[in-house]
Amino acid sequence: MTDVLVIGSGPAGYTAAIYAARAGRSVKIITGPQQGGQLMITSFIENYPGFEDPVSGPVLMDQMSRQVQKMGAETVCDVIESVDFSRKPFVCTGESGTVYESKTVIVATGANAKWLGVPGEEKYRGSGVSACATCDGFFFRKKKVTVIGGGNTAVEEAIYLTNFAEKVTLIHRRDTLRAEKVMQKRLTGNPKIEIMWNTRVVEIIGNDSKVTELLLEDTINHDRMKKPTDGVFVAIGHQPAVSVFADQLKIDNDGYIVTTGTHTSVSGVFAAGDVRNPDYRQAIVSAGQGCMAAMDADRFLSAY
Ligand code: NDP
Repeated sequence: MTDVLVIGSGPAGYTAAIYAARAGRSVKIITGPQQGGQLMITSFIENYPGFEDPVSGPVLMDQMSRQVQKMGAETVCDVIESVDFSRKPFVCTGESGTVYESKTVIVATGANAKWLGVPGEEKYRGSGVSACATCDGFFFRKKKVTVIGGGNTAVEEAIYLTNFAEKVTLIHRRDTLRAEKVMQKRLTGNPKIEIMWNTRVVEIIGNDSKVTELLLEDTINHDRMKKPTDGVFVAIGHQPAVSVFADQLKIDNDGYIVTTGTHTSVSGVFAAGDVRNPDYRQAIVSAGQGCMAAMDADRFLSAY
């Protein structure tokens, strides 16, 4: 049995493990399906403090993983398949069949970007296809880029990308945006942004090394056309990874774990990072929340 079981190995999970181990607690971190989390598909990070030059996502996560090990936390490559938070200690079972018992649990399973699922999307991921303008926008200086989606994220990303790109096209499948009115006003008032309504992406086309154009379809008359582009930002929402916790923790209408600070609806279970927070989705924010969750778990353990 451990004092702290951390589920998830992105910046939130690793930071939680570092802080909890450093507080003298016994800690196990269960990596989940993709050790290192979303940053493993981010080419360069220029906004994580402490790195003068851009650091690649996998390098940053490798550093965090080594730091976790150095602190004495045990890293286990497993995926938690079921949890029982009604018992104390809490019981979590991995797909390996291993049963993990812990006095506290920190849920840091993150969220995954939703993808369109069209041909070319996976092939050019990291070579023109991205789901994070804040991470990759800088690489499209003076280029033509396209944002897909009609929610707050898509609108925010389109506006953000005008800081770099020469032209931004927002492609939305309907004729009204889901984004808040104030965001819509900013979008339509920006001379660098054009909006294509009632349009869906059929295929992302490239020259084998990078994206060059999109095959689009009008959703009303089904006419097809090709549109040149240097980059495609897919912003059709994120899916918090909560399925395992759905019947154990309070989840809000958008699918995120409900928290007060980092406390979930079950005393002794904490949540940090994208699994509880749709508004920021930044590595540094997740790391900060991981730290908070570990400190809260430590306080909880002091009274255990
Ligand atoms: P949303 O679910 O709000 O919007 C997703 C958008 O993508 C919708 O316009 C939807 O179209 C479109 N879409 C979904 N699936 C597809 C598909 N397969 N093909 C094409 N288009 C698709 O997600 P967001 O990430 O924008 O926002 C998530 C939450 O986070 C929201 O609550 C939002 O308000 C919040 N948020 C808040 C911010 C802020 O306050 N600053 C910033 C960013 C997010 P359709 O409209 O037709 O369904």
